[in-house]
Amino acid sequence: MPGQMKSVVVAEPKGRWELKDRDVPEVGPNDVLVRVHACGICGTDLWISDGVLTFRDFPIVPGHEAAGEVVAVGEGVTKRKVGDRVGVIMAQKFCGVCDFCREEHPNSFVSAANCANPTLTGVTVDGGHAEYVAVDAGGTVIIPDAVSYESAAPILCAGYTVWAGLRRAEPKPGARVAVSGIGGLGHLAIQFAKAAGFHVTALTHSPDKVETARQLGADEVVADGAALKAAGGADVLLHTNSSHGAVADAMNGLKPWGKVVLMGIGTDELNLPALALTSNSYQVIGSAHNTIEHLVEALDIVASGAVTPVIETFPLERAEEAHARASSGDVRFKAVITY
Ligand SMILES: [Zn+2]
Ligand SMILES: [Zn+2]
Repeated sequence: MPGQMKSVVVAEPKGRWELKDRDVPEVGPNDVLVRVHACGICGTDLWISDGVLTFRDFPIVPGHEAAGEVVAVGEGVTKRKVGDRVGVIMAQKFCGVCDFCREEHPNSFVSAANCANPTLTGVTVDGGHAEYVAVDAGGTVIIPDAVSYESAAPILCAGYTVWAGLRRAEPKPGARVAVSGIGGLGHLAIQFAKAAGFHVTALTHSPDKVETARQLGADEVVADGAALKAAGGADVLLHTNSSHGAVADAMNGLKPWGKVVLMGIGTDELNLPALALTSNSYQVIGSAHNTIEHLVEALDIVASGAVTPVIETFPLERAEEAHARASSGDVRFKAVITY
């Protein structure tokens, strides 16, 4: 499909998200060409766009929360066809020949972090903030008919992350789940934990987020670990902030044998209360995207109506405004650009 398209292009670290004309990408033999209709802005996009995380030279096209329609497929593609509604995820393809790949692990964030030469959409190659993106068919997932492109987009990274984190913690039926951080990840974590039938306590220091957390489904809203303990404690703490300073305090509300799941991408240090960790047999689990089946589960839960991403949509002409507002933490809760 030759021709030109509009694409977000970031020319330099901390640069603006400018709309440029670019060639529609060529479709390799194992690729699908996706006409993107919506792409979310993830915190990781901001880290990459600002040059905090560096994977390739600028200019870059960010975006790993793209949802759209397959409009062309390479000759070797059998699992997708023209007309499929798909989501484009970050972990697109792995090299297959490095020491890690020889161990034959499933597609996950761990594979993305450990493969010697991974292809990561919007990270190591151009991403989904464009009218078209070409990706390996293995880097896509089918979107249920009941889920709009705009609602699917935030699930492809943020929703995937929080649902996979909850699954990773393997809470028992009836467990008490606490969510710290009521933002792009946290507002979904509250809803997913509630949809799965758990008792949910939200942790936030922002008085203006208390009512919002309740509306999202939190049974209780508390300000710190001591209040969490007084409210009955938690078996699982889903920490969705990219800052880790509050983890040790929140752990004051963790029940014996409790688990902490860290899922925000941050660069700060984490200090843990060693005595409490040992004597309560706590587990601290790092988690991001753990196998695509968790993403499929998350999309199905959204399709059921039990979880609704709260988004602000921006037409592509306002991409830089969306970027600026997301950067300043001004969006409740996820910015989605439509293409
Ligand atoms: Zn992301
Ligand atoms: Zn590899």
